[in-house]
Amino acid sequence: MTQPPRPGPPLWLLAELTYRCPLHCVFCFNPVDFARQDSELGTEDWLRVLREGRELGAVQCGLSGGEPLLRDDLEIIVAEARRLGYYTNLLTSGVGLDADRAAALKAAGLDHVQLSFQDSTREMNDFLSHTKTFTLKNRVAKIIKDQGWPMVMNVVIHRMNIDHIDRIIEMAHEMGAEYLELANTQYYSWAFLNRDHLLPTHEQLRHAEQVTDAWRARLGERMRIFFVAPDYHEGRAKKCVNGWGSMFLTVAPDGTALPCHTARMLPGLAFPNVTAHSLREIWFDSEGFNRYRGTGWMKEPCASCDMREQDLGGCRCQAYLLAHDAAAADPVCAKSPEHHRVVEAVQRAAAHGPAGPVEHPLVFRDPANSRRLASPVTPDR
Ligand code: SF4
Ligand code: SF4
Repeated sequence: MTQPPRPGPPLWLLAELTYRCPLHCVFCFNPVDFARQDSELGTEDWLRVLREGRELGAVQCGLSGGEPLLRDDLEIIVAEARRLGYYTNLLTSGVGLDADRAAALKAAGLDHVQLSFQDSTREMNDFLSHTKTFTLKNRVAKIIKDQGWPMVMNVVIHRMNIDHIDRIIEMAHEMGAEYLELANTQYYSWAFLNRDHLLPTHEQLRHAEQVTDAWRARLGERMRIFFVAPDYHEGRAKKCVNGWGSMFLTVAPDGTALPCHTARMLPGLAFPNVTAHSLREIWFDSEGFNRYRGTGWMKEPCASCDMREQDLGGCRCQAYLLAHDAAAADPVCAKSPEHHRVVEAVQRAAAHGPAGPVEHPLVFRDPANSRRLASPVTPDR
């Protein structure tokens, strides 16, 4: 294998401050075995991580989780990030953001808030998160606007809410969101467990895209709408995290440093911890960050494919989950020998239709299910 290319600096530092979360989303991107990873870095460690990230060249700092508002030291972390010159972004479910906390975070220098909703209807929002949070999220949206923060509303899209997309967009517009991210579910972690429930049909997707385009034409720049296309339906791989170890550096709650937040599931690849190594060592020299940089690690069909520089062979976690080999072509690609697994999953979705049925129940993301389930997620059979 050729030497991986020397990367530039990470632009994004994503600090996953905690896996604790009051919600139980069925598509949660946190590891399925999060309950077994309950240690969290202390405040001083996070402040050091922020300093080292900035010294490396990172300019954006995402504060995420779980629910980052569950950390009592969030204001201290935000203030240090601001002092260091990061642009800070809080990714939150809204639980815990009352007017006083919002004022404190504003005073600490928080730049931006991304608020997640599960749906435009109370019933589906509360069902999917297994909590009664719809009314609260509406209040939080107003608090965000009152503080003058630009608001990104994020809605994970799947079979159970995709037919509400018209009302979801209208709701975001009514609440004054500057940006709406309609993020089609990525099938890792909890979403992979629940894939048969969540994967929409081609018809649902086509309709959702038409509705989104009509709203874009109507609203123009007043609210920018991002529709993150689902790779299962496209037959094409995506450049995952803009290239492994090229832009994003994620630090998990226990200090494990990752090129993307799901990479920890990959077997046989050790990821370093910030308590034992500097971010500089981790970024430039660790096996975890170097293994899939560039194209030198590729096998056929990627190794000789003329798309390899554009998509870098797609997502390593998806290759592991679907092809049982993290170095394989991402099976969403039509050239992958395992592409039939994706085709079959989409065909099952079409056979079930918009409402299901499916033979097994939804699995909610909660500590009891996390302890019960295999670690990591079992790949497709
Ligand atoms: S996806 Fe849902 S359960 Fe997972 S961290 Fe976000 S709000 Fe919590
Ligand atoms: S074979 Fe590999 S490099 Fe070529 S398009 Fe498919 S995933 Fe991309």
